[in-house]
Amino acid sequence: MKYLDALIIGAGFSGLYQLHCLRDKLKLNTLVVEEGKDIGGTWYWNTYPGARCDSESFTYGFTFSEKIFKNWTWKERYPKQNVILKYLKYFSNELKLKKNIVFNEKVISAKYIEKNNLWKVQTNNKKKYYTKYLICAVGSLSSINVPKIKGINHFKGQLHHSGRWPRKKINFKNKIVGQVGTGSTGIQIAPEIAKRAKKLILFQRSPNFSIPARNRKLTKKNIKNYKQNFKKLRNFLKRTPGGHPFEFPKKSAFDFNETKRNLLYEKSWQYGTLSFRATFNDIVKNIKANQTAVNFIKSKIYSTVKNKKYADILTNFDHPFTAKRPTLNTNYYEMFNKKNVELVDLKQSPIIKITKRGIKTNKGEYILDKIIFATGFDALTGSILKLNITGKKGINLSKFWSKGPKSFLGLLVPNFPNLFIVSGPGSPSVLTNVPVQIEQHVNWITNCIKYLEKNRKKSIETTNLAAKKWQKEIMNSVKKTLFMKAKSSWYKGDNIPGKPKTFLPYPGGMPKYKSECIKVEKNKYKELKIS
Ligand code: NAP
Repeated sequence: MKYLDALIIGAGFSGLYQLHCLRDKLKLNTLVVEEGKDIGGTWYWNTYPGARCDSESFTYGFTFSEKIFKNWTWKERYPKQNVILKYLKYFSNELKLKKNIVFNEKVISAKYIEKNNLWKVQTNNKKKYYTKYLICAVGSLSSINVPKIKGINHFKGQLHHSGRWPRKKINFKNKIVGQVGTGSTGIQIAPEIAKRAKKLILFQRSPNFSIPARNRKLTKKNIKNYKQNFKKLRNFLKRTPGGHPFEFPKKSAFDFNETKRNLLYEKSWQYGTLSFRATFNDIVKNIKANQTAVNFIKSKIYSTVKNKKYADILTNFDHPFTAKRPTLNTNYYEMFNKKNVELVDLKQSPIIKITKRGIKTNKGEYILDKIIFATGFDALTGSILKLNITGKKGINLSKFWSKGPKSFLGLLVPNFPNLFIVSGPGSPSVLTNVPVQIEQHVNWITNCIKYLEKNRKKSIETTNLAAKKWQKEIMNSVKKTLFMKAKSSWYKGDNIPGKPKTFLPYPGGMPKYKSECIKVEKNKYKELKIS
């Protein structure tokens, strides 16, 4: 049994920075409990072939310390999974974080003991911790979604989910591989498997929009430039809606004739990065402007993919561009010109079951050596609810969120005093370049705890009213976007059977969100319950 000031669950980006802030700045007795064998969070688990971040490397890290920022050098435009892990190890070594982290320990429950104002946290190793503050830093995309397909346990070959990729290298040589899922992950894995396997059969349910990443080595000049402009860059990232190094222009798609508009799209297409959506200011909010982007992307797919049937399947979009998370790719569309790649349209021929030998659709059985599920996550709420958290009066978080997550700013939950969530539902989280949002969140939590400690307070809790108002703000903000026009998206919880259907992240942009957070802090948390 151990008594702590603060216990942080998860040793990814958020947990590591939160540990530094509470331990080193506030001098609190802090411990991180991590399920994995090492630090990294998302980047510890997602080791699948092709795993790489879609954010540009020089923006994908912490900016609170100029020294830490400048002493690390990103060498490619987009960082590979193992490079991000190396970065986090560098970060952790610089701040000597590991000594306050326990690994291989999974939190199985957390219960608030009202009479002592303490959280009792239990782990799978039968360890018990008592802590004043409990911080969920479990990541938005951690709880994997393995679809409940009939017969899944009967398959005799190997079956892997991208989010729990084995550490041991998998041999694809001479193998027939079936891959289910064509989101950000699937679009990264497939071209890599196609290079190695005898055959790749890709099972697509819905096509996703994908823009060429155009990864490249950073030149010495690029590196010098981003380091020299550290302060400018930091301020810029914090000012933009998504924490990315681009802004939306003033011009509408309709300020140009079709020829000029397509020239501008072409320029963005050649440039790569997630900034394609910012070619014009109205792509993400006006359905007609959006359609011009859709038409351009479709024309690119048709001019790349030689097999017309495949091009039709890949362009059969059921959502506006950006209504689901747009993806970046390296040779994804080009891959369909390879002889060893087959595309199966699950809209035409749905999967009936998984057999001993492979995948059976209503058009026949595909014999496979391996199956890869790139089927995503129970996003934003899944990893938090798995912790089995019980607040005041025995209220369980799963029950309290049974109709969707209720929180204030995604940070605090009514009935759950001194529980803080980093990048949780109700915050901009997955709609941003996540480390930028994490830094803002952790700073807010740290300042809040500092206030409580300085004023010798026992606890802080949000009210139901504040949570309701915030939920209303989320719903009002989402109306100004195209997100709800996606038939099915994990942003709305559609990918998990039985999950409440509600828009999960805050879509109003980081500057607006941040100003709300600052207001609460400046107001000395008056709209919250402090005792
Ligand atoms: P995802 O976007 O949820 O995609 C899951 C894919 O699996 C979709 O194509 C989905 O089809 C399909 N699928 C799910 N269940 C299925 C079933 N029962 N049968 C057939 N197909 C099924 O998951 P993800 O690709 O892992 O990405 C999740 C998020 O992680 C991304 O949106 C992104 O935010 C983040 N991510 C980022 C990067 C990066 O930065 N490079 C890389 C990977 C992931 P439907 O579309 O029809 O549902």
